[in-house]
Amino acid sequence: MLLFEAREQVAHYGREMLRRKLTTGSFGNLSVFVPEAKVMVISPSGVDYDQVGAQDVSVVTMDGVVLDGQRKPSSEADLHRVFYQNDPTVKAVVHTHSTYATLMACLGRPLEPIHYLIAYAGAMEVPCIPYYPFGTMELAQAAYEGMGQGKAVLLGGHGLVCVGPTLSYAMDAAQQLEFLAQLCYRAAVVGGGVKLTEEQLANAFEAVKTYHQPKERKS
Ligand code: 13P
Ligand code: ZN
Repeated sequence: MLLFEAREQVAHYGREMLRRKLTTGSFGNLSVFVPEAKVMVISPSGVDYDQVGAQDVSVVTMDGVVLDGQRKPSSEADLHRVFYQNDPTVKAVVHTHSTYATLMACLGRPLEPIHYLIAYAGAMEVPCIPYYPFGTMELAQAAYEGMGQGKAVLLGGHGLVCVGPTLSYAMDAAQQLEFLAQLCYRAAVVGGGVKLTEEQLANAFEAVKTYHQPKERKS
């Protein structure tokens, strides 16, 4: 099977997405980029994550051609592709419908830096783009442009996208930004939290990159 290890990794992190309660059923999607082959390895469309094996994961070129995989690739393949095509530092993309991040996206509210874990976004806020229909190139372009220099963006009326150098990092980012979204929502209910300054966050941006034990970061 073409790129078996990368496909196993995508299947594994799909189950992680469920285990970490970042989505339900088959919603959301995830991929890794394989630079040597210039292809992305992406989750299938509409298949529950606990049913996905390596054979169900698709191998797709940067022109959108499916090279291998028994299933139709994610409907958001363009959303993933646009990051790999435009930013060589991005090697993994995770898209979730986690509750609080999606709630903030439905409110059209960016995530503000009220907790240092905003560092996973690599920016002082997680911006929120307007609504575009799922699975469209318009959504893909708007998400890429809206993310700017950061690593995360809220999709209006839809969910969250995080990018990173590994699937492990992008999944951790999705999890921690879901926590931040919950804090932002709850803080907003009582009038808002205290925003940290760039100076206060300077160390956090570097620290999250090396937070885990090296052996835990398999990908
Ligand atoms: P797929 O199942 O096609 O990946 O789509 C789920 C989704 O979240 C669409 O935005
Ligand atoms: Zn979605």
